[in-house]
Amino acid sequence: MAAKRDYYEVLGVSKGASAEEIKKAYRKLAVKYHPDKNPGDKEAEEKFKEAAEAYSVLSDPDKKTRYDQFGHAGVEGAGPDFSGGFGNLDDLLKDLFGGAFGGGFGGFGGFGGFGGGQRQQRVYRGRDIRVRVKLTLEEIAKGVEKEISIEKSVPCHDCGGRGARNSSDVKTCPACNGTGQVQRVVNSFLGQTVTYSTCQQCGGEGKIITNPCRTCGGTGLVRKRETIKVKIPAGVEAGMQLTLQGEGHAAKNNGINGDLLVVIEEQDHPNLRREGNNLFYTKVISIPDAILGADVEIPGIDGTYKIKIEPGTQSGTVVKLKGRGLPTVNGYGGTGDLYVKIAVWIPKKLEKDDKAAVEALREKASFTPNPSKEDKSFFDKIKGLFD
Ligand SMILES: [Zn+2]
Ligand SMILES: [Zn+2]
Repeated sequence: MAAKRDYYEVLGVSKGASAEEIKKAYRKLAVKYHPDKNPGDKEAEEKFKEAAEAYSVLSDPDKKTRYDQFGHAGVEGAGPDFSGGFGNLDDLLKDLFGGAFGGGFGGFGGFGGFGGGQRQQRVYRGRDIRVRVKLTLEEIAKGVEKEISIEKSVPCHDCGGRGARNSSDVKTCPACNGTGQVQRVVNSFLGQTVTYSTCQQCGGEGKIITNPCRTCGGTGLVRKRETIKVKIPAGVEAGMQLTLQGEGHAAKNNGINGDLLVVIEEQDHPNLRREGNNLFYTKVISIPDAILGADVEIPGIDGTYKIKIEPGTQSGTVVKLKGRGLPTVNGYGGTGDLYVKIAVWIPKKLEKDDKAAVEALREKASFTPNPSKEDKSFFDKIKGLFD
């Protein structure tokens, strides 16, 4: 798939544009490129789709925030669904003025596409499937391809999704004459009232199956377990959702597939704690190492790093390893850092000789606390303890 253009660039507005400016910019593009005005012009159609997608994200505060934060990956599959046609330009402009955009474009719950005549052809949309995927921090750091096993409805292989054994077994519904609706005339002293309701016999489809397919029982759908490969980008966070368009349940009458929604969960890491894209690790060192200095190893997310403990390191000192945190989705916000907090191990049980040695230190001048004179940054370095 070709790289998507930045949504702000598509609409020709700046990142700080107001909702009103975004709407105006989209209206201008919609008038210019809408298929109603450019019949048969594929390039205009693509431009219109691109603008509609950009608008559908930037006009939705929730999606806009995700887009600003994560780029296209944050709103994957968010664009409008044009499978039922583009709608009428006049209606679209009315919606834009009225601010009610979204209703006709959502593509959810599926009606759309007029069959040419008066009869409205119903297009079903399959249900979405939501799965949770638990990732380790290592997987999040690098990005990962996961195989997800799901059970979903697919078109029946025996009847091709028709639900009938042969195509001749699909008949026009006699109750509604194929219109899917039945008229009811009620006589009252006020006169005749005509009401329309969905045909009970065919469920509004205008067709009935005289000889249902045995495999699917006439539904046109069967259950199937499938394994789907999902590419999860580096830097994702718990709660984020990836949308795989069309990977959900199939719909009857060969309608539109639902989506597969992959919800990210995180597994706790044995050593590292995550906050945003930064990682935190506590390194416990011995008293001699804190006093004399030492080289120690820090188990990071993609390997072990050596750091130098300076002589006279206080417990609570924080060392920052720049760029050793997690990446942001799409690299939008750079890479986080790894913060290492030094904790000095104070033993509780001492052997007899050790106790005497420490006792001897008690009276020594260099072991008397004197932070303000000895090290001006002492409180700065350990202030993290009280944050
Ligand atoms: Zn009917
Ligand atoms: Zn079947």
